[in-house]
Amino acid sequence: MPFDLLITQGTAVTTDAVFRANVAVNGGKIAALLSPQDMPAAGQVIDAAGCYVLPGAVDAHVHLHMLTAAGIYSADDWCTGTRAAALGGVTSVVDFIQALPGQTLMEALHERVDDARDAVIDYGFHTTIHPDEAPIGGVNKRVSDYRIGEIRQAADAGCPTFKMYQAYSGLQVQDADLFRALRAIAEVNGLACVHAENGDVLQALRDAVTSPAELVNGLNHARTRPAIQEAEAVNRTIMCAELSGARVLIFHISCDLAGSVVAGAKGRGLTNVFGETCPQYLVFTDDKLARPDARLWMCAPPLRPQADLDALWRKLKTGVLDVVSSDHCPFTRAQKDLGAGDFRRVPNGMPGIETRLGLLYEYGVRAGKISLNDWVRVCSTRPAELHGLRSKGRLAPGYDADIVIFDPDSPRELSAAQLHSALDYSVCDGMTCAGWARDVLLRGRAIVQNGRHTGRAGDGQFLKRSF
Ligand SMILES: [Zn+2]
Repeated sequence: MPFDLLITQGTAVTTDAVFRANVAVNGGKIAALLSPQDMPAAGQVIDAAGCYVLPGAVDAHVHLHMLTAAGIYSADDWCTGTRAAALGGVTSVVDFIQALPGQTLMEALHERVDDARDAVIDYGFHTTIHPDEAPIGGVNKRVSDYRIGEIRQAADAGCPTFKMYQAYSGLQVQDADLFRALRAIAEVNGLACVHAENGDVLQALRDAVTSPAELVNGLNHARTRPAIQEAEAVNRTIMCAELSGARVLIFHISCDLAGSVVAGAKGRGLTNVFGETCPQYLVFTDDKLARPDARLWMCAPPLRPQADLDALWRKLKTGVLDVVSSDHCPFTRAQKDLGAGDFRRVPNGMPGIETRLGLLYEYGVRAGKISLNDWVRVCSTRPAELHGLRSKGRLAPGYDADIVIFDPDSPRELSAAQLHSALDYSVCDGMTCAGWARDVLLRGRAIVQNGRHTGRAGDGQFLKRSF
C-alpha cells in the first residue's frame, strides 16, 4: 500500500494557488499533492468533493485556563478549549507560560505542559516576561536580571517567543525592561510579542471616570483606551525593537492608527516588524459597547468604529498585518458580571478559538475583502512561520498532515448551542457562516469527522518551536 491515506477530489488552497488535487498522506506527513486523476492505492480514502482542502489553522494567541489578576480562570480549560478549536479547524495553538512569584520559567513551563495534557490538538507556549514579584495584581516592579537571563533557557526549551505587556498593573513592563528583554530576545533570535497599549495613559483616563452613570456605560471602556494611546505604544515598541535588533510582533492591532504605524515601519524597510489582528476587530464595531450587556464584548484593546474595521481588512489584504489570531480569552456571564456596576472591573477578553476560520471565510473571503489564498496565509501559513512551528501551516510534502476539509456550503449558526466552548453565551449570536470545517486531520489522523469531534483527550503534543 503506497499511502496511508488519500484525500480525493478536493480543491487545495495554498498561499499562492487554488487547484484540484488528491492529497496523499504517509506516516502522519503530507507525502504528495497529486493530480485529481492520480488515484494510487491507499489504506483509507476521504472524499473531499465540493470542499476546500487547506493546512490546519494555527492560532498563536490563546488563553486557556488562565489565571487573572482578579483570581479567576478563563472559562475554557485545555479539554473544552482545544476541542472547540479542533471543531473550528484549528490544529495547533500557542498559549502562554507565566511564572508565579519565586517560580522559574522552567518550573512554570513544566506545570503548563502538565496542565495541557488533555489537549486534543498540538500546542506550544509563549514565555511571558513580566515584573518579577507582582505577576498578578500589585504594583509594577522591575524585571530582574535573573528573569532576563532565563530568556535563553526558554528559547532552548522550545519557547522562543516572548510576551510583554505595556499595560495592566502587575504585568506592565517599563520601557527600560522592555528594551533589556528585547536585546536578550534578539540575542537568541527569538520573537517578541507585545500587548501595545500605553498603560499609564489609559490608567489616568480610567481613574478620571468616577460617577456611577459613567462607570456602567460600556462605551467608556473604549473611550478610556483611545486609538492614539494604542498607536503610541505600538510606535514605542517598534522603535525599541529597531534599536535592539529584535523581531517584534504587535499583538491584536485594533485600529487604523496603530496599523498605520506598522505600515510606516514596514514602508521604511524594517523587516523585523510584524502585525497581528483578531476576528473581533474585523467583525464587531464599538456599537456593541452601547448595549446593556456590553461587558461580553469588552476586550483590550477595545472594539472600534466601522472605519477602523474597513482599514484593518485592507491592511490584512496588503500584508501590513501578517496574521489573525483569536486572542481567545473567554469568561462566563457570571465572571463578566463581576464588572456589572463598573466597566473597569470587567475581566477583559472574548472567545474566538472555534470561529476564526469560519468568520474569516464569511466576512473576508465571501465578502470579497480577502482571497482564499489570503485566508490560508493569515490563518495558517504565516502564523506557523512567524512563531517557529516549522512542520505546520503548509499543504506541502514533508509538512505534518494537519489538514482541514472545509465545506463552503455547510451553513453554521454561531449560537452558544452550536459552539463548543464552555461559555454559556455566544458573542456571535444571530450570525451565520456559509461554510465550516467538515473534517480535521491531526498528523494524518482524523480528529473531526462530519463536524463531530472523534479524537481523544491527549491527542495533542507539545510543540518545541525554533527559528
Ligand atoms: Zn491575549
